[in-house]
Amino acid sequence: MRRITRLPLASDVEGAMAAAQARLNSEIAGLPQEKWAKAAGAAWDGHDSGATRSTLHAMAGPRQRCMYCCDSHGDSIDHFRPKSTYPRQTFSWPNLLLNCTECGRYKGQWFPLDDHGGPLLIDPTVDDPWDHLDFDPETGNLVARYDPVHSCFSNRGEETVRLLRLDRREAVARGMQKTLRQLHERVERALADPQASADRLIADMRQIDEYGLIAWCFIGSGRRDAPLTTLREQRPDLWEECVSRVG
Ligand SMILES: [Zn+2]
Repeated sequence: MRRITRLPLASDVEGAMAAAQARLNSEIAGLPQEKWAKAAGAAWDGHDSGATRSTLHAMAGPRQRCMYCCDSHGDSIDHFRPKSTYPRQTFSWPNLLLNCTECGRYKGQWFPLDDHGGPLLIDPTVDDPWDHLDFDPETGNLVARYDPVHSCFSNRGEETVRLLRLDRREAVARGMQKTLRQLHERVERALADPQASADRLIADMRQIDEYGLIAWCFIGSGRRDAPLTTLREQRPDLWEECVSRVG
């Protein structure tokens, strides 16, 4: 999972979404709660979401990958807060993400909350996933991040991994391990090149990094592995410049 910057919607698209939400709000105001899901589903299905989808694709990058697993194609619009439970956010732009079929199936209508009503699932357009997740290069799995200050694993990391089964997705694990090897190769090339610049190295790494592993390499626990350790020891200036560009 990687941090994603949310782009603004075109004003006419935003206006159409607001109007659709207003119509749905009026409709559900007169309905018992058990009928909200059906009303929200029908309203969403009847809405032209083409422009919204295009903006989500632009946010997801050239390969339009799922915003949760970053592995499969993001072929569906996901309601972060499920529209069946939160129909008043059916047409809320900050509530919309792009997901793949598999993540959509695992997430379903689940939306676990913490004790204060906040989401436990990580929203990559709001949260930095690496605040809550860690990567295990041995298995290729995403795991909850350990917080040594509080001596516990991130609750949000644990719930996100559990809900999306990020610790048992073989294709995701293989993709992340392969990408990490390629990222390490770029670092090794930079180590062998006295003219290497941080701009060039980070640009090269970004071209192949679909999973957000660059941040894990320079700021997360990946900085403790070779060849990142070698870069930090042998080329401290280059290392610092890379960290400042990634952070
Ligand atoms: Zn996915």
